[in-house]
Order: sequence, then structure tokens, then C-alpha cells
Amino acid sequence: MKDRELLPRTGSFYKANLHCHTVLSDGRWTKEQVKQEYQKRGYSVVAFTDHRHYGWHPELMDENFIPIAAFEADLNEPFPPSGSFSRVRTYHLNFYDTDPANRTGFEAIQPPQRYGDIPALNEFLQTMSEDGFLCCYNHPYWSLQSSPDYLPLQHLFAMEIYNHGCELDGLYGYAPQAYDEMLRAGQRIGCLATDDNHDCYAPGNPQCDSFGGFTMLRMPSLSYANVIGALQRGDYYASSGPLIDQLYVEGDTVWVRCSPVEKIYLVTEGRHCQMRLADPGRTITEAAFPLKGDEGYIRVDCRDAQGRHAYSNAYFLDEL
Ligand SMILES: [Zn+2]
Ligand SMILES: [Zn+2]
Repeated sequence: MKDRELLPRTGSFYKANLHCHTVLSDGRWTKEQVKQEYQKRGYSVVAFTDHRHYGWHPELMDENFIPIAAFEADLNEPFPPSGSFSRVRTYHLNFYDTDPANRTGFEAIQPPQRYGDIPALNEFLQTMSEDGFLCCYNHPYWSLQSSPDYLPLQHLFAMEIYNHGCELDGLYGYAPQAYDEMLRAGQRIGCLATDDNHDCYAPGNPQCDSFGGFTMLRMPSLSYANVIGALQRGDYYASSGPLIDQLYVEGDTVWVRCSPVEKIYLVTEGRHCQMRLADPGRTITEAAFPLKGDEGYIRVDCRDAQGRHAYSNAYFLDEL
């Protein structure tokens, strides 16, 4: 296998929250508050994904902050006679605009409201993709969805592997199993960690849903086009805490360097993953995993003492 950077060695990491609600839908913060609070905590990028509301806020852009134009669409099952949403399955999909400066008069659109009509949904996803939107499949666990709902989806660039708002809502935050199911079904998509913040609770409150799930983008510099390029190329990883500094293949070995964690796993298409574990009470910051060549895909999962994860994207060996 030839040497290859899985995350680029050059450039810098920029912290992004790619799922955010404001007062323009059911969030509590204005877009200006979002920028202020996230910038204070080291974020450079926020995607404004209000429900059914296309949020393009170029007035927030400056040399240290990029607002990504986006919206969250939904598709619900028919409601039961009780009218309760509690058991209704739903698709939530984030659409990130790759080029908002060249779009005029756009308003958020919804997929055909026919739950179960996968061809109609895929046609919508194809149209959006051709129109310059990157589509992410959100929080499958919270959505009460299972593999028949999400495996047939097409034209996705990523799905959420961690959603902080959902984690606070019902411990529904992590979805690594759904991500592996997608990968094993042949989907070649990335994974994002996001906040999905609504900010009903102030920072410092344990129920505050901001600043818990983030995506680290590796880019030469901070610009709208570079954010989109990093998302399209897969130059990023997802995290609810730990940081990945380096990830590359040298010879037949995958190298990982990260912030102090208890466990570093190399997950593969089969069930034989590799692992490096710290001794009790200790931490590790690197691991080297020899590849046999039959792993199918590989992805790295670093777990810290608080049970938080950093997740790399999946890399398919036939593309390395
Ligand atoms: Zn949602
Ligand atoms: Zn949301």
C-alpha cells in the first residue's frame, strides 16, 4: 500500500458546528448570539440549519468566522389519531449550500411528504445534490429509524455519528452502528458530529446543547470555499471531545496521534477490529495498526475517560 495522508498534514484544523437552530426556527439564540458564543469557544464555522428555513447570513462573515448557508428538511410518517409525534418516524436531513453567493431568492424546500416512498425521496436528494447542496442524514436514533429507512438513501455526503442535542434529549446521541451499517451496505459517506443546539438552557447548565459535538475541518485557510472543499474531500473528523492530530498510512501501517484517551480502535468492515488500550488510570496518545489488506474499510475511534469519542471518516482500502 502506498503512503497516504488520511487527514492532510498541511493546513490547520478549524472547529465547526454543522447543525444549529436559531430564533428563525425553534432555537432561542439569534444568529448574532450564535456567532458570539461559538467564537468565544474557539469555533470558526457554524452552519445555520434552521428547520425549513434557508439561513444565509453573509453579514456574519469575517476573517475569523464563516457562516454556512443551510437548512434542515424533514419527512414524517403520518401522525396517529392521537396526534402525538412521540412514535412517529421521521427523516431529518441537513442541506449545506456549496455556493450561496451565486443563488438568489432561494427558499428552503421539503421532500415529497410521502414517508416510505424511497424513490421520491432519492429523486429529491438527487435534485438537491445537482443544485449544489451537500446532504447529511441526521440523528437516526432520535428519529426512531432503522436500516430499511436509511440504507437505501442516495446522494448523501455524510451522516451524523453524534448529535449533542439528541444525546441530552434521551441519550440518543451516538450512532456508530448506523454508520457501520451504511458503510457495509456500500455507502461511501463521511460522518459528522454536531450540536443541533436550540439553547433552551444557558451555557454552564448541564442541559445546554451547545459545544458538545463538533467537526474539525483540515484546511489551508479559513474561507467558505475551503470549508465546502474540506467537506467534499472528507478532510475532517467528528468528535464529542478528543482531538485527532494526525492520521495517515505509512507502508502497511495506519498511524493515529490524538489527545490523551483510554482507547484507540481501528474499526473495519468485519468484526475483527484492532485496539490499543491504556493501562487502568493511564492514557495513550498514539497507536499504529498493521493492515492485512482485507479490512474492506477502516475508521478510527478514540475514546477518552469521560466516554467521549473522536471518529475519523471511513476509508476504503480499494481507494487508498
Ligand atoms: Zn433534526
Ligand atoms: Zn436540528
